[in-house]
Amino acid sequence: MGLLDLLYPRQCLGCKSPGCYICKYCITEVSKTGFLCSVCGRASREGKTHYKCKTPHAIDSHIAIWNYDGVIRKAIIAVKYKFASALIEEIANYAVNEINKRFSYLTNPYLLVPIPTTRLRYNWRGFNQSEEMAKLIAKKLNWKCVPDLLIKKSTKAQTGLKLKERVKNPRGAFRLNKKVVVSQDFPVLIFDDVWTTGSTMKEAAKVLKRNGFGNVSGLTIAQTGRYH
Ligand SMILES: [Zn+2]
Ligand SMILES: [Zn+2]
Repeated sequence: MGLLDLLYPRQCLGCKSPGCYICKYCITEVSKTGFLCSVCGRASREGKTHYKCKTPHAIDSHIAIWNYDGVIRKAIIAVKYKFASALIEEIANYAVNEINKRFSYLTNPYLLVPIPTTRLRYNWRGFNQSEEMAKLIAKKLNWKCVPDLLIKKSTKAQTGLKLKERVKNPRGAFRLNKKVVVSQDFPVLIFDDVWTTGSTMKEAAKVLKRNGFGNVSGLTIAQTGRYH
């Protein structure tokens, strides 16, 4: 048992039953989203962006595993503030189960590209929890995690903005890391923990597409349901 287990005893974040952070009962209570178009928010097959909603360099599809609700919401918040690798592993395991069950068409060897984080989103131990989660998911599904494919640009131009505005204003926030050599034949799944407005992920997709990646989709653990 590590120090963090003592600080944060292993009990369900939902019902407090002992043994793990997310129990088998509470996870089934989390509502799931249907397949929705990333642009208009209406139903679409496999979360694909409708043909009529597509703009140049638009994201091809997006799926969220759960709604940002119940024990998943609590787990995502807990992971941000109290890093516990066991909790990240539990989320990743449940995510892989859901992908195998509901998104089994994702059989390609995907490149999983976590959204590069701002310093603000690193937790107190200096980990990017989203990246750690992506690595575990990719490993279990035989995908390739490419954490450094996108680089966060210097936010110099945004220093005049208030914190909230900066978070809301990710445009031009990323660039491609040309030092990373990957085959553009593989489809890309951009990974993030939460989809709120989708603007960050759409911006990341645009950068990848502009740089020659043909098939770029998104995967998030949870979505809040807002699209614009
Ligand atoms: Zn529980
Ligand atoms: Zn649409």
